[in-house]
Amino acid sequence: MKKILVTGGAGFLGSHLCERLLNDGNEVICLDNYFTGNKRNILHLMGNPYFEVIRHDVTAPFFIEVDQIYNLACPASPVHYQYNPIKTVKTSVMGAINMLGLAKRIHARILQASTSEVYGDPDVHPQPESYWGNVNPIGIRSCYDEGKRCAETLFFDYHRQNNVDIKVVRIFNTYGPRMHPNDGRVVSNFIIQALNGEDITIYGNGEQTRSFCYCTDLIEALVRMMNSDKGITGPINIGNPNEFTINQLAHLIIELTGSSSKIIHLPAAEDDPHQRQPIINQAKEVLRWEPTVQLREGLEKTIAYFKSI
Ligand code: NAD
Ligand code: UDP
Repeated sequence: MKKILVTGGAGFLGSHLCERLLNDGNEVICLDNYFTGNKRNILHLMGNPYFEVIRHDVTAPFFIEVDQIYNLACPASPVHYQYNPIKTVKTSVMGAINMLGLAKRIHARILQASTSEVYGDPDVHPQPESYWGNVNPIGIRSCYDEGKRCAETLFFDYHRQNNVDIKVVRIFNTYGPRMHPNDGRVVSNFIIQALNGEDITIYGNGEQTRSFCYCTDLIEALVRMMNSDKGITGPINIGNPNEFTINQLAHLIIELTGSSSKIIHLPAAEDDPHQRQPIINQAKEVLRWEPTVQLREGLEKTIAYFKSI
């Protein structure tokens, strides 16, 4: 049994991770400030004596003794990370410094939930880990993109300078049950709009692409990465390489929900990446991982969840 800290543990991915780690027989400490997370996501875990929840903001130092730290604390949807961009930078950068300082002091292994956004609006397609990205440093997405890039820098500097045992994964668009219903991400937006018979809002012409990974596949990759050999630091892309246009996604969700919603086009979002698809050869080779849930199946489960709430 390991003692494991999950920052952002009450969020969408964090709650699935806490659940998985508890099921594997670990003791889990979930830290969250509930900015985008919710106690409802972890309510079903609260009766477990090996599960502990702490309200804390990662921009402030935190002291505890654990074996492993998963650093997930950070709003992930553009609507939420743009709500208070200065806070978003602080969460990524000061959160990384505080968690890396903790890992250094207690000799814990630490995993960073980085993002495909470090590639910005990529002019290399699909994206390998060796690509340095095309990020606007002063745009409205920069608080998230540059915050996450700086966090990666900090992870590798703590590794080189202080020998901290780091793992960095770059997560591509992941969806599933427990996404915040109002967080504005495309999968939750379209499903809720379709279920309510409202217009499906496509930003721009809808020909921009994303590659969608189902949450349980993603969690499996995080756990494999955390428990990989010490020399493996990443960064490693984690995502489902099946690429779809936003138009295709909208039509699929209308079909699966049997909705009568109409599609409308709104102005394109600023600095919206035109294409995104991970190369996951490293994940396949190093982690022996690849996604198992394809979009149609994952959407059916996600639609069932949104119907149930
Ligand atoms: P989420 O918004 O559901 O979860 C983030 C969690 O962090 C929430 O519970 C929130 O309350 C908490 N949090 C935010 N700021 C905090 C702070 N200052 N202190 C403590 N807690 C704080 O988002 P998610 O989709 O579950 O994302 C989890 C992590 O994975 C994030 O770091 C995100 O950047 C990364 N990621 C997610 C995706 C995706 O598609 N879901 C893609 C790339 C990267
Ligand atoms: N998008 C859209 N309509 C929405 C929400 C999002 O067309 O209601 C588009 C958005 O412009 C982007 C893609 O869907 O091109 C994915 O957006 P999301 O916010 O889910 O994630 P990210 O842009 O961070 O990949």
